[in-house]
Amino acid sequence: MKPEAVVKIVEGREKKIKTFYPWVQKEEVRRVEGPKKVCLATLEDFNGEQIAIGTYNPISRFPFRVLTLEDEPIDQAFFERKFRTAFELREKLVTDTNAWRAVFSEADQIPGLIIDKYGDHLVVQVRSAGMEMLKPLWLPALIAVSGAESILEKSEMAGRKEEGLEPVAGPLHGTPPDSVEFNETGLAMTALIQDGLKTGYYLDQRSARRELAAKIRPGDKVLDAFCYTGGFSLYAARAGADVTAVDIHGGALAAADRQAQANDLSVDFVEANAFDYLVEGAEDKGPFDWIILDPPAIAKTAQKRDSLKWGVWKLVHAAIPLLKPGGRMLVCSCSYQLSLQKLLDVCRLAAGDNGKQIFVEGVTYQDLDHPAPLSFPESLYLKGVWLRVD
Ligand code: SAH
Repeated sequence: MKPEAVVKIVEGREKKIKTFYPWVQKEEVRRVEGPKKVCLATLEDFNGEQIAIGTYNPISRFPFRVLTLEDEPIDQAFFERKFRTAFELREKLVTDTNAWRAVFSEADQIPGLIIDKYGDHLVVQVRSAGMEMLKPLWLPALIAVSGAESILEKSEMAGRKEEGLEPVAGPLHGTPPDSVEFNETGLAMTALIQDGLKTGYYLDQRSARRELAAKIRPGDKVLDAFCYTGGFSLYAARAGADVTAVDIHGGALAAADRQAQANDLSVDFVEANAFDYLVEGAEDKGPFDWIILDPPAIAKTAQKRDSLKWGVWKLVHAAIPLLKPGGRMLVCSCSYQLSLQKLLDVCRLAAGDNGKQIFVEGVTYQDLDHPAPLSFPESLYLKGVWLRVD
């Protein structure tokens, strides 16, 4: 495919692109030569020198997204090389599972494309109009390089609207099953690829789950709020904990229950709104040695940052009285908008408002199959703080 447009960047802004930041904002576009439509484009600095090739979308907040800083053809072979590099990285970094994030968008220099692999099946999310346009190039490349039995598209995220795209879901290759069984650290897990959330499972919390299992002592009482299909719960139960797990999504809980049985584990799953349950309900099951708070990202934009902050405050504030003296928590934020520092601030305030001191025992991030280049801070979205309350 040939570039059809030339995007000229405002003087001085080329530096960030040359140092691997992948997006050009609307305000940073000086001029565009060529059609005002979604197409392949070159990016030029103030002197007319080409600095990148990427996708152009005139209506996006980020009209230009970098595919490469080299002068190279964008064709099927280009995507085959990208996929091979991304897959080899996972083979090297990820251990003891057959499911991982195979491609993480900008972090793998494939902007707007997410691919999760569950055994022989892939689930993809297309987040940008540029990647949608390039589907005839990357899809055959993906089929060839992955050798996947099936590929399901689950592009249902709200962000597509801003790109001029509708939500879509459906098979791209083969016949995707309803759900896929896979193995994570010796546990039989299920990805609800058709009817679940996101791509069906939260691969990003794998390292935190392993860390939790290593910290738990047999007989510990654990409350896993926002448990989804029971990722943290099953690890805790296998470590000998007595686990109560809460989620609002009945379908996820039914799968979690099946998963517990398949692993010969017992977990008390409760269908409830966690905000209410922490205030009323959980008390009967407590006090707890551990509370896991892994709420969804309710703030995708800076405007909503405050509501997320106070949402987390409410959860931590309600959780603290449910802990035994010296009880511990893992509090997570999967929104880039709620930074580690803000998350710590919220926890400090919630503890103070309970008349308690809180101690930081560690920080955890998304697992390694979700790479986080420092040149693109937005990619480091998931963080969790390990806390002890006295
Ligand atoms: N900890 C999970 C992932 C959590 S994702 C894991 O390791 O797999 C966030 C979860 O929060 C989703 O399962 C969603 O159904 C649930 N959720 C969203 N709002 C909720 C609410 N108010 N109360 C309880 N669960 C909620």
